Amino acid sequence: MRAHYAVVGNPIAHSKSPEIHTLFASQTGEDIEYTRLLAPIDDFAGTVKRFVAEGGKGLNVTVPFKFEAFAFATEKTERALSAGAVNTLRFDGDTVLGDNTDGAGLVADITQNLGVSLTGARILMLGAGGAAYGVMLPLLKQNPAMLYVANRTPEKAAALAVAFSSYGKTASSGYDTLEGQYDVVINATSAGLTDSMPAVPAGVFGQGTLALDMVYADKPTAFMCFAAEKGARIRDGFGMLVEQAAESFFVWRGVRPDTAPVFAHFGR
Ligand code: NDP
Repeated sequence: MRAHYAVVGNPIAHSKSPEIHTLFASQTGEDIEYTRLLAPIDDFAGTVKRFVAEGGKGLNVTVPFKFEAFAFATEKTERALSAGAVNTLRFDGDTVLGDNTDGAGLVADITQNLGVSLTGARILMLGAGGAAYGVMLPLLKQNPAMLYVANRTPEKAAALAVAFSSYGKTASSGYDTLEGQYDVVINATSAGLTDSMPAVPAGVFGQGTLALDMVYADKPTAFMCFAAEKGARIRDGFGMLVEQAAESFFVWRGVRPDTAPVFAHFGR
């Protein structure tokens, strides 16, 4: 019988995940169906239970349910525990495995697709919300020289930097006191959704900087335009999206799809 997977969120109509996973399935020969699942804001757990009762094998979880998915899981991976959020659920009998593939997706996009090494790099993370928490551990496992967190609300940046200080060198501040140039600047704020950007000094970007916005859109975000003006190489969050999907596919099926044909399909 064809195995059923879905992406659950609210809203969900915009999600590209069904198209991406359908491409993975035809490439690998895995017999799966992948759909969109709209959950009412107040009934994530009920929606997931019905999906499982109907034979569903796994879910991707997106805004605003990643924390509820974390609570729903009966077992969690190290990267889910460190993120405090789950974007991938796998159902095996009574066991609900919760994983978080966002960070692995980001690292794969930077190191494999862009060929940029994070080992020994000075990384600046902008933002201290759910997306930032989700990627801290996989970034630190690459052994950067420094992972500096800056946020509009500096207290949240400090809490994030301290939470991960046992995994590597972390530090934090607000935006106005940032100094020096970074090798990689990651925009993990949601500012791009309203076409604004965090108030970072221009000096954090230089000719050798990779500036990556986790948001993806049809045109470059304000952050990407600003960084490009300063000579940085720019990237949006589409690559991260495709790579986190590939990692979820591997968690469910034990087969790692090739992402290159998916980028080609989307004209990337
Ligand atoms: P949260 O709501 O948890 O956090 C939002 C963050 O953005 C906070 O740090 C907040 O700062 C900051 N922020 C919001 N507006 C502004 C602004 N105008 N100027 C400066 N800072 C601002 O959101 P998430 O962390 O869950 O998501 C962040 C983004 O990452 C989203 O756009 C999401 O779509 C994207 N994302 C992309 C993924 C991908 O696969 N490409 C995967 C996961 C997320 P403060 O604390 O001061 O309020």
